[in-house]
Amino acid sequence: MLIVMKMDATSEQVDRVVRKAEGQGLKAHPIPGAQRTAIGITGNLGVVEPAHFETLSGVLEVIQVSHPYKLVSREFQPDPTVVDVGGVRIGGPELVVIAGPCSVESHEQTLRIARKVKAAGAHLLRGGAYKPRTSPYSFQGLGLEGLRILARVREETGLPVVTEATDIDVLDAVAEYADMVQIGARNMQNYTLLKRAGRCGRPVLLKRGMNATITELLLAAEYLLDEGNRQVVLCERGIRTFADHTRNTLDVSAVPAVKRISHLPILCDPSHASGKRDKVLPLARAAIAVGADGLMIEVHDQPERSLSDGLQAILPEDFERLMEQARALAPMVERTLPALVAQ
Ligand code: PEP
Ligand code: MN
Repeated sequence: MLIVMKMDATSEQVDRVVRKAEGQGLKAHPIPGAQRTAIGITGNLGVVEPAHFETLSGVLEVIQVSHPYKLVSREFQPDPTVVDVGGVRIGGPELVVIAGPCSVESHEQTLRIARKVKAAGAHLLRGGAYKPRTSPYSFQGLGLEGLRILARVREETGLPVVTEATDIDVLDAVAEYADMVQIGARNMQNYTLLKRAGRCGRPVLLKRGMNATITELLLAAEYLLDEGNRQVVLCERGIRTFADHTRNTLDVSAVPAVKRISHLPILCDPSHASGKRDKVLPLARAAIAVGADGLMIEVHDQPERSLSDGLQAILPEDFERLMEQARALAPMVERTLPALVAQ
């Protein structure tokens, strides 16, 4: 916290601020300047109310320097967090790709697509069993049956699965069947759900709300860590802007911004960001270029028949190209993405 004194503040007024800070167990560091004095305050600022200082005579303004987040910050943990999802490590040197259909539609469809994304090099399988849909008349997901299908396909392919828990009622079931619990953009500030997810015993993929700032995203993650869950991966999935050529705008600058502040890994989801198939590959390349720890990509082999998000699903052959491009780009950003081994 930095307290800026008025230009005509007296030395008594500066002393009063210093004594007030010290009386609260803080350290005050007066920094005299050519025009005015500023006073740096350090110590445990978590409980300090800026208004206590703002109201003292001679004070111009109080600037909060310390971040509101604690556990997610690099100040708390300088080294990057590596999250283990069924043996797949997110946040290490290797880029990680989560791929699969938007929704689990049937066992056959999920297995077919899972085999294709695995063959192209995907590390984790995605697929929604509980779907947060804009319209109540749209396909809402297969629910528990969808979770069972995902678990079966994991057995059949060896791919760990990531799937969304849309509310606290389904969280336990999702945590039981999935390797990683996804909290969707619409639920990023559902604090009851976040607290429960913080205790669910599974790694969590937390997607950025479409109207959320980086600070709000990190504070949402703070809820998970505060409940004891350190296995958290963030995901930039596009935010609402005035641009209408895509469904959302992929905020690529969020990646370096988050990395500067936080030790948590961050992925990008160019599928939900763009809403359009032809934008997915270029945005995936951009995400890798800015330092994302990996990607989430929607893939469907019959997108015209898909029960959700068909317009943004890329074909398996396009996913292969995406993976080839990611492999070529990885060394440029000091990451790895191993070549495919024959299966
Ligand atoms: C999803 O990944 O299935 C999804 C619904 O994404 P978002 O929450 O980012 O809209
Ligand atoms: Mn989708």
